[in-house]
Amino acid sequence: MNRLPISAPSILLSFVAILACQSLQAGDSPRPNVVVILADDLGYGDLGCYGHPTIRTPHLDRMAREGLRFTQFYSAAEVCTPSRAALLTGRLPPRSGMCSGKRRVAFPNTTGGLPDGELTIAELLKTKGYATACFGKWHLGHLPAFSPQRHGFDEYFGVPYSNDMDRVATSPMGRAAFLDPKIDYWNVPLLKNGEIVERPADQHTLTRRYTDEAIRFIRAHKEGPFFVYLPHTMPHVPLFVSSEFAGKSPRKLYGDVVEELDANVGRLLQALRDEKLAERTLVVFTSDNGPWLTQGDQGGSAGLLKDGKGSTWEGGMRVPGLAWLPGWIPPGTVSQELASTLDLLPTALALAGVDLTQDRPLDGYDVSPALSGGKSPRQEMFYYRGFELMAVRLGPWKAHLQTQTGYGQPMAEKHDPPLLFNLEVDPSERFNVAAANGDVLQQILALVTKHRAGMQPAPSQLE
Ligand code: MG
Repeated sequence: MNRLPISAPSILLSFVAILACQSLQAGDSPRPNVVVILADDLGYGDLGCYGHPTIRTPHLDRMAREGLRFTQFYSAAEVCTPSRAALLTGRLPPRSGMCSGKRRVAFPNTTGGLPDGELTIAELLKTKGYATACFGKWHLGHLPAFSPQRHGFDEYFGVPYSNDMDRVATSPMGRAAFLDPKIDYWNVPLLKNGEIVERPADQHTLTRRYTDEAIRFIRAHKEGPFFVYLPHTMPHVPLFVSSEFAGKSPRKLYGDVVEELDANVGRLLQALRDEKLAERTLVVFTSDNGPWLTQGDQGGSAGLLKDGKGSTWEGGMRVPGLAWLPGWIPPGTVSQELASTLDLLPTALALAGVDLTQDRPLDGYDVSPALSGGKSPRQEMFYYRGFELMAVRLGPWKAHLQTQTGYGQPMAEKHDPPLLFNLEVDPSERFNVAAANGDVLQQILALVTKHRAGMQPAPSQLE
């Protein structure tokens, strides 16, 4: 049996957090509800509260003002499928086999999916009586054996894979289909509890309809506890927006889409306030990977970070990370602590009082101390592309063993010695300081050796 590694100071901070949680649990609902909202391909620089000059996100900005905004928050992978598998299991993608060096994500003809033996946040929270639902893009295997219901979700409404898949033969070729997208260029199904209810899915209304379902579910289960996983289809290309938001943003269609997402986060938070659930519900907002930069102005922005989706440069995996739990998370907290979507499982389980002891290695930490404004137990981050360990962060330092742009560079470039950047001094990864910091490199290489010794990859489910 493996326990999560935890240091003495973090035990103390965890104890403080546990005391805080006990007061959280002292009301008539003993366990906090958990809502995870995941945007698709939203970049580090795409929200007002992360510095975007023209995309207006007043509801997410308010969420940050009332809660916590991480400046160093990481998705668990650089593309959709491995990132989602890791978020739901708290395990790096190679451990579940939900990654591949060839087909990097699941496609409509993929026959694999998230293995039955993996334990998701939903399955584990169900052991404490949580009602669970997933509304949005699944992308962890579309065959019934891998469905959300097989992984602990009582309800599901959404699309099984990316909205640019299942393209019909008569649609325009290549990126041309994205420039003026029409619903019938793609044959993506919309499913409700395993049944196709619409095909092609009307993508103009997905953002609103996922949110409608989430609000309905929250109201139906307001006695709690509940877990809602809300992985939006947007702003992944093809971009679709409802008529209410079309043509409104100075950032054109991409801005319209993000502003509609923002408004729907606002609707969900308001529903929680109206139901008097705000102080009993942890809401996390983040993105599955960085912006898809090769999509021109239809892709987002990683702000000052290098590269984007598909890459293990910072822009591929450092994403917006907001957490909201009024009365427990101090308002207006800006945290420079390290945290990752890998940490959502251990953190949610700790808040729910689920024993974290598992018969398998976990790669996440209970970051509830950081959520209450303290230190994070996370000191390192491993950046994988498929099964390849590309880079490692330790404290402020990041060493690249290999580099490859997200798209357009066919082979990775290996680095021996590794490239080394101090991300706190140089967040854009411009100045390689390996030569002057041999001791740091040695420390990171020792960490790599230890990590590799504990990594037993599963066969790929995506090939
Ligand atoms: Mg994505």
